[in-house]
Amino acid sequence: MSETIAAIATSSSKSAISVIRISGENAIIIADAVFKGISGKSLSAHPGFIARLGRIYDAKGEIDEVIATIYRAPKSYTGENTVEFSCHGGSYIARRVLEVVINAGARPALAGEFTKRAVLAGKMTLTQAEAINEMIFAQGENAHKAAIGQYDGALYRRINCVKTKLVETTAKIAAELEFPEDDIEQTASVQITKELSIIQKELQDTINSYAQGKIIREGISTVIAGKPNVGKSTLMNLLSKSNKSIVTEYAGTTRDIIEETIDVGGVCLNIADTAGLHQTQDNIEKIGVDLAQKRLEISQLVLAVFDISNPFNDDDYEIIKKLDKQNTLVILNKSDLPQKAVLTEITAKFDYIIKISAKLESNPKEIYDKINEITAKFNFDPTSGMIFSIRQLDCAKRAESALQQAILANKNNMNDAAAVCTENAIDALMELTGEKITETLLEEIFSKFCIGK
Ligand code: GDP
Repeated sequence: MSETIAAIATSSSKSAISVIRISGENAIIIADAVFKGISGKSLSAHPGFIARLGRIYDAKGEIDEVIATIYRAPKSYTGENTVEFSCHGGSYIARRVLEVVINAGARPALAGEFTKRAVLAGKMTLTQAEAINEMIFAQGENAHKAAIGQYDGALYRRINCVKTKLVETTAKIAAELEFPEDDIEQTASVQITKELSIIQKELQDTINSYAQGKIIREGISTVIAGKPNVGKSTLMNLLSKSNKSIVTEYAGTTRDIIEETIDVGGVCLNIADTAGLHQTQDNIEKIGVDLAQKRLEISQLVLAVFDISNPFNDDDYEIIKKLDKQNTLVILNKSDLPQKAVLTEITAKFDYIIKISAKLESNPKEIYDKINEITAKFNFDPTSGMIFSIRQLDCAKRAESALQQAILANKNNMNDAAAVCTENAIDALMELTGEKITETLLEEIFSKFCIGK
């Protein structure tokens, strides 16, 4: 009999409602011990999928009026008997309700233990469970879509398809082992190598999807670059619609890197406002300039700001030289003032250019549209089966490397070695999907989940 576990399933910050979740064979009995229904009927007397109003008591008296929702095994998230108490929000009430439930016989749930039980009960695959975690942390529309796609089983199906093909090819290798003297040996071996190579290519594509998933999940690293006083912080404020960056009329105010995450048409941008790039003798300022320079080098997208109300100087031309036209959006700022800069060099080099007044602009839509033109190359179908975690990536890489060895062994007519390698690849894929996984590994995966999930 599984132990009955309980935890607060909602966040501890201020909220209208908090939910305490109880799951396990005795969930309904334990809930009955602390809950008195308004109707006078015990929760055990009800079928599943029923919500009942009542009160929760401890030795000191009433704690709160709550709604108890009953789920009966196997029709619940965990596949076990489950009761969820929805009480008034705030961590104090929720903690007292949890305390009384634990005193009545439940034990505090470990991180991710509800979802782990759901996986063990076959209610979802391991990759779906991992997707649930992704959904909680998803930032931006694409990240959310990708997590939903994974929850829908996209990765599981993709890996399962590879695995099925691999099982078929392994059977062919086994047949070769049984009939080594067969006339058709040579042709079969060539065919097996061909099949293994196709599977390896599919696995490689899946491995590559991790980098795309990373962009979706973590966003595109973006930097706002330009010399001092051109309007970088004003632009940052416009884009993030906040006043996080310090805007002053004195050059060199932004010394540290200020970061903000914004969703531009479903793509998440991690924007850094940096110190102005220019020649300086000031040692402290130089630290900021060096940081800005480094950030420019590693960023996937650059928003390069120029003040066109002043003639360009050496600092501007130095920046123009450093920029890569593929990932740069040139922002010609201060267009509300008379233009004094000559733009010949800039218009000749760059494809993505926009003229704005960051100070007077109130709607950054035009800038967003231009950004989306550049980031279109980062776009891909977020609902395709993507590798999301380092764990999944490691399994896929192990499978791919075992396949490489299998191909080599097969080419050298070492069929028994090839069979061992394809078996290893299948094992790694089954570990990825959770079909073959150790208890220790499961615990490690779920320890990264929230308590109550
Ligand atoms: P940064 O040093 O590049 O971050 O520049 P700031 O954003 O701090 O702006 C420097 C000065 O330029 C401030 O006084 C801003 O108000 C002003 N400024 C920024 N954008 C514009 C603009 O589009 N038009 C005008 N007229 N002034 C601007």
